[in-house]
Amino acid sequence: MAFPVPRSLSPSKVSSFTDCALAFRFSAIDRLPEPPTAAATRGTLVHAALERLHLLAPAERTLDAALSCLDDAAVGLRDDAEYAGLDLSDDEATAFHAEAGDLVRNYFRLEDPATVRSIGLELRVEVEIDGIRLRGIIDRLELDAHGELVVTDYKTGSAPSTQYERKRLSGVHIYSLLCEQLLGRRPRTVQLLYLKAPLAITTEPTDRSTRATRRTLGAVWQAVERACDREDFRPQPSHLCNYCAFQAYCPSFGGDPAEARRLSEQLAADAATGAGDAPGSPVDLVPASAGAGV
Ligand code: SF4
Repeated sequence: MAFPVPRSLSPSKVSSFTDCALAFRFSAIDRLPEPPTAAATRGTLVHAALERLHLLAPAERTLDAALSCLDDAAVGLRDDAEYAGLDLSDDEATAFHAEAGDLVRNYFRLEDPATVRSIGLELRVEVEIDGIRLRGIIDRLELDAHGELVVTDYKTGSAPSTQYERKRLSGVHIYSLLCEQLLGRRPRTVQLLYLKAPLAITTEPTDRSTRATRRTLGAVWQAVERACDREDFRPQPSHLCNYCAFQAYCPSFGGDPAEARRLSEQLAADAATGAGDAPGSPVDLVPASAGAGV
């Protein structure tokens, strides 16, 4: 029996599939639970703080205000299952919040938020392009000094090496495509703000880059459909294995992917009888933390 074909893709899932098809399967199709990580949860927190900051009037967007926004967001996070799941000791919690504060301070080294004319924050968008349903969350959509659209994506993980920079930008080009389809206007600029470095990577979408993005999307979609039909999702070992939550099921680490399938079916059966949480629907490919690009 073939695997269910997803109904939609998100930029992060496109990247996940091209990084490692097997990890994509475990996450997007088997929907295996992934334990929360401090890095991802810190990303969620910092995104929430910056969203609050940009809801303030421009003149009020000071560093002190941003740190207050971070404190407020941290209060909201305290009861969150993702944060509780980290089970941080007091020292670890102190370091966690100190690092989040450093990321917010670094943000101010990249831009002056008082000059940003946001028109949308944490926007959930969904469109159909070339027969493919695309979904995503745009961290920030704004207008530049000439009234042109700018898409901004915050990143709280390490900035990519030059080798991977292009690949990371390809995700932002997908957001540009989402915008163009949704609003009928192509953004003038898309930018990734890497808060840890800190480093801004910007690009200007063109006809050529848009065509290339559509081609890439079509090719990824076909490859996903083919892999589902053949039940053939292959491991692609890389440095990303160090952060992969699915090593126990990966043949590259002595695991058996069939075990993942059995676990997925068991979780679904438990959920149907009320005995446990269901793995997420295999057709909903936007993870809850999609806006929190780490
Ligand atoms: S451990 Fe590595 S090769 Fe295996 S599924 Fe994860 S990312 Fe892919």
